[in-house]
Amino acid sequence: MDIGTFRKHGHEFVDWIADYLRDIESFPVLSLAKPGDTRGRLPGVPPEAAEPVDRIFADFKDVVLPGITHWQHPGWHAYFPANNSPASILAEMLTAGLGAQCMVWQTSPAAAELEDLTLDWLRQLLGLPPGFVGTIQDTASTATLCALVSARERASDFGVNEEGFGRPLVVYASREAHSSVEKGAKVAGFGRRNVRFIETDENFALVPAALEEAVARDEAAGLQPACVVATLGTTSSTAVDPLRAVGETAARHGLWLHVDAAYAGTAALCPENRWFLDGVELADSFVFNPHKWMLTNFDCSAYFVKDPGTLIRSFEIHPEYLKTGVDPCVKNYRDWGIQLGRRFRALKLWFVIRSYGAEGLRAMVREHQRLARLFKGWVEAEPDFELLAPVPFGLVCFRWNDGRRAEDELDAFNKSLLERINSSGRFYLTHTALRGKFALRMVVGQRTTEERHVRAAWEAVASAARELGRP
Ligand code: PLP
Repeated sequence: MDIGTFRKHGHEFVDWIADYLRDIESFPVLSLAKPGDTRGRLPGVPPEAAEPVDRIFADFKDVVLPGITHWQHPGWHAYFPANNSPASILAEMLTAGLGAQCMVWQTSPAAAELEDLTLDWLRQLLGLPPGFVGTIQDTASTATLCALVSARERASDFGVNEEGFGRPLVVYASREAHSSVEKGAKVAGFGRRNVRFIETDENFALVPAALEEAVARDEAAGLQPACVVATLGTTSSTAVDPLRAVGETAARHGLWLHVDAAYAGTAALCPENRWFLDGVELADSFVFNPHKWMLTNFDCSAYFVKDPGTLIRSFEIHPEYLKTGVDPCVKNYRDWGIQLGRRFRALKLWFVIRSYGAEGLRAMVREHQRLARLFKGWVEAEPDFELLAPVPFGLVCFRWNDGRRAEDELDAFNKSLLERINSSGRFYLTHTALRGKFALRMVVGQRTTEERHVRAAWEAVASAARELGRP
């Protein structure tokens, strides 16, 4: 493709994206595609001859687009958001255009220094302690794996026996912790049986006394407690583990304290939300995802550590072909995580923070929290609905319950209710299990979601429940 053709299609694509974002409500939020629909409409063998962009783009619109679930739709209330923004999209275009591979400082000095700068901006914006230093990982799962590997590195400094073998290392997290903790423990070699899932209280938060007991039991059994993950904003219900108490146990027993605030971290942009960070100075590492609720295109996960030395010791490599003359005085982020090659992710973060300003980002968070509280109020006011968890951020967990049915009937009813709501194409909610109960999850976190959308979602939920409940 020559530059002229590229320019022509570039303009056309930007127009298409602008129209897409403007008209996104006209798409069904959840793709209606059936398994095999997309593949079945495309040739199984690659083209021998070059094809014009017009034809590829026509297939994109005709074949690919129907198989897309529209995460930027204002009716997006599923999982957690992965919201983007015009500023972030523009930066992603520049990143793609530059095509820089930013593995070491020298392979793009500005990328390394913008990463250093934007992560420090984020640290300040969230009110994290001054000593914390950040790097960008692709996802929170990777950041948690990095924390577990660092914890293993630090723990293996102690407790090695005469034959050179250490005691088995143990990881702790609440029963409500994200599955990435278990996956990370498996990948990092702790082994599934050395992960302890600690009981939670009536609000789904880790019980500190149960953590203390589990750690003491493992120590008495000759194992070596190595890491505890505290979750601030659990995936199912956004429960907040008591960070200070968990941190005190970690400090008493020499555990690495990793904080997973993948979704809720963004809420700390607003000082009135920072209660949940109480004790964060005790953490060794902290992750949150600007790619969830902070208007930054997937993927972009902010990972902070108190002591970069342990992180670097865990991941550094020094092959001759990667050495540069400036290594002693720069940050080479290849040593701050698993991958060698790195995208220029800091650029979109820089664009987002500058284009919204701290004020704009805070305003979005506050509005989403206001809308979530509004929805919560409607659930509470309706006798046939019940709230299933506290609502500290933008997620409401609830279900229909007329008080006259057994639990299994209620589960079946709420499952049908969810299917009915989602089949409208206007809203997409997902579910979870809370104390064994089928719970509907309604998240407000999409950039384009306004009060009218949340109101319409509630009306759809209430009327679908009335129709289903009719004898
Ligand atoms: N931690 C928590 C609390 C989450 O809710 C999620 C995803 O929703 C993750 C970790 C995993 O995030 P990622 O997809 O960035 O790995």
